[in-house]
Amino acid sequence: MATVTTNHPLPDAQQFSSFSELVVACARCQELEPDVIHPVVLDPRHVVTKLLIRQVDSDLKHPGAERLFAELRRKFWILRGREAIRREQRSCPECQRWRAQPVNPKMADLPPARLRLYRPPFSQRD
Ligand SMILES: [Zn+2]
Repeated sequence: MATVTTNHPLPDAQQFSSFSELVVACARCQELEPDVIHPVVLDPRHVVTKLLIRQVDSDLKHPGAERLFAELRRKFWILRGREAIRREQRSCPECQRWRAQPVNPKMADLPPARLRLYRPPFSQRD
């Protein structure tokens, strides 16, 4: 298990030969499950992290960024996680569709009878 100090970059992913060498964070509460106490620290730019975010996003049916972040926090500690999740959700077509704003239809021009001055509609007889 590697130790990473604050404001230091993560060790290069090439250095890890197996899952036993993953970097984990330490929580102070010992009453939680081991996965919660020692979440795996992930690089936000790594391909595996991006795939993990997309998988959980798809499994949860494309929730909001905070909901997805909370779910991922149960096992993983993604550095700058909110930013990474927002970036991935911005590129997810399903998330874009769910968050799209409705387009207001463009109104047609008023008919000429409504635009005549001093002659209101239905005032003229044939
Ligand atoms: Zn999505």
